[in-house]
Amino acid sequence: MPTLPLPFDRDRILELTQEFPTPFYIYDEKAIRANARRLISAFGWCSNFRNHFAVKATPNPHLLEILADEGFGADCSSLPEILLAQSVGIDGEKIMFTSNDTPVSEFVYAKEAGAVLNLDDITHIQSVETHAGLPSLVSFRYNPGPLRQESGNAIIGNPEDAKYGLTRDQLFDGYRELKNRGVTRFGLHTMVVSNELNSNSFVETARMLFTLAVELSDTLDVRLEWVNLGGGIGIPYRPEDKAVDLESVGQGIEAAYNEIVVPGGLDPLGVLMENGRVVTGPYGYLVTTAIHQKKIYKDYVGVDACMANLMRPGMYGAYHHITVLGKEKAPHNTVVDVVGSLCENNDKFAIDRELPEIEQGDLLVIHDSGAHGHAMGFQYNAKLRSAELLLGADGAVRCIRRAETAADYFATLDHGPLDALVASTSN
Ligand SMILES: *Cc1c(COP(=O)(O)O)cnc(C)c1O
Repeated sequence: MPTLPLPFDRDRILELTQEFPTPFYIYDEKAIRANARRLISAFGWCSNFRNHFAVKATPNPHLLEILADEGFGADCSSLPEILLAQSVGIDGEKIMFTSNDTPVSEFVYAKEAGAVLNLDDITHIQSVETHAGLPSLVSFRYNPGPLRQESGNAIIGNPEDAKYGLTRDQLFDGYRELKNRGVTRFGLHTMVVSNELNSNSFVETARMLFTLAVELSDTLDVRLEWVNLGGGIGIPYRPEDKAVDLESVGQGIEAAYNEIVVPGGLDPLGVLMENGRVVTGPYGYLVTTAIHQKKIYKDYVGVDACMANLMRPGMYGAYHHITVLGKEKAPHNTVVDVVGSLCENNDKFAIDRELPEIEQGDLLVIHDSGAHGHAMGFQYNAKLRSAELLLGADGAVRCIRRAETAADYFATLDHGPLDALVASTSN
């Protein structure tokens, strides 16, 4: 088993556990910043490139602040996500409101906030006009359906089966309708892959949108200001996976731009993305302690985190690499399931994993949890969400979200005896 580099060692984590009991998440600011810069510089050729960080990946204002500082916008799909963006100074058109099945009240707020309304359905033209009034800039999410078959993209599935976006015919009708109703500025969006490691896939998506943007402009006499390729750049969860080469994605898209956009008369056309996972995913870690060993028909290591802290393995069967701190170089000569305490048998961080001999008290690091990790947390079985820590660029660690308490869990109830019980415990 290869050893993956970590921005901390066992001693550092042991010291942190004095103040912050496990489980906790810890994010590496320096690496997040370096990576954000790398993504931006891969599109340095484009006069109007922006990554709108998908807030759902890591909805913590302290992390969003860092990304705002690096020049990112935000991709939001609900009102609280818009509030998070605004709280760190991401506002107006730096907020892409890419929602679906959207409540009218959220359109109203997003419009007031000056966010880009990226409509997921043709009927939203009417509901936005009725309830919020159409803004000057509107975008549509395109679903290419059978026109684009991605092989084996497990998370988002085939476009044809996906609930998102407008069909190609609806797009032409939609922009025509917007133009008739006085809208003057237009964007075009799609998101067809998730956790995709094939860099060519993103070049193909750009090609598809560039071609469509030229067609729309020619047919309807509307001028598109930008295309938004969505997010979905994958990360190497498995040691044998190869990271997407951002530079080659940028170069491939530049070539497509020169081939399609420039002769099509749409230069300068903005190129936007909405990556979340690739921005923070590899630079966040879930740290947990081994609290139990069990040998029945299989061997188990029980840890103090559970699926409620990180749902991906249980939900998608996703692989997350695990390092046992201080035993990086030890032979990986045991095969175990690493499990949490939820009363669900899919509460397993790893199945049949080769790991070094684990003892009670060993600290385990679950890698690549920096996106869609803490964010997907839930409270089933009355499990409490963990703290989030930030390893700052200056090397200092600070708490950016405290761990939940039983009182937090019960906060929306109003029940005297329960409140008294909670008050009598220190939990
Ligand atoms: C989830 C999502 C993203 C971000 O996806 P990543 O895999 O985190 O890059 C971007 N745009 C939309 C519309 C999404 O739903």
